[in-house]
Amino acid sequence: MKAHHGVEQSRHQPISRPQERCPTCSRRLTTGNFDVTFRFADGSEQLCFAIPAGLCDNCGEIHINPALVATLELESARLVFAIETDRVAQKKHLMRAE
Ligand SMILES: [Zn+2]
Repeated sequence: MKAHHGVEQSRHQPISRPQERCPTCSRRLTTGNFDVTFRFADGSEQLCFAIPAGLCDNCGEIHINPALVATLELESARLVFAIETDRVAQKKHLMRAE
């Protein structure tokens, strides 16, 4: 049901497929929706909920499609926290540094 057209706005390489292999170890990623926190260079943070992403069980790292990161204007930010949305049934620990 996904449209595979309309990627001509990409300035880099075309998006041929979702990112489903770990760039580090090439293992398959477990895809799902994640609540993620990005931190910018100035220390501010941006929370994004239910972001589709892939988790590498081997590295324990979350990999988000670069096109989605660009859409969210988070290219200059660093992913600092992620938790699978489905598992967020309990309280979250959202601490403010300031
Ligand atoms: Zn990996």
